[in-house]
Amino acid sequence: MEQDQALHSRRSITLKFDIPISKTHEFWDALRQSRFVTTKCKKCGQVTFPPQADCPRCMSNEFEWADVGPDATLVTYTYVQVTPASFAENDPYIIAIGEFAGGLKVLAWLEGIPHEKAKVGMKLKVEERTSKEGNPFYVFVPA
Ligand SMILES: [Zn+2]
Repeated sequence: MEQDQALHSRRSITLKFDIPISKTHEFWDALRQSRFVTTKCKKCGQVTFPPQADCPRCMSNEFEWADVGPDATLVTYTYVQVTPASFAENDPYIIAIGEFAGGLKVLAWLEGIPHEKAKVGMKLKVEERTSKEGNPFYVFVPA
């Protein structure tokens, strides 16, 4: 049961894209090149994340891809310790919110650093990862 909950909490921050599937490859292609892009409304300039095909501000469906990363700053984080009853593959992990230069805040796991070394204000960058199921996702790592 506890293991199920741990899995559930991980899944709950799985990326959801409100954008035609055929267009999300732009995002992942960019990430593979160490760029972090999202959609920007061509009409009003609104930047949205996750990428969206329709502007939440002016409803325009004309958008372009804008580079917002990969450099970010750690705004806040939570260290999640997995209960001993859970399986070893669910290691403790850090969930972080990173802010990109344009002010966009993104939630992702923070890897490559022990939690006691994580510090608000530290420089991060985004890196691509691939899940066991073969799906791409991204994490923050120390810059
Ligand atoms: Zn707009």
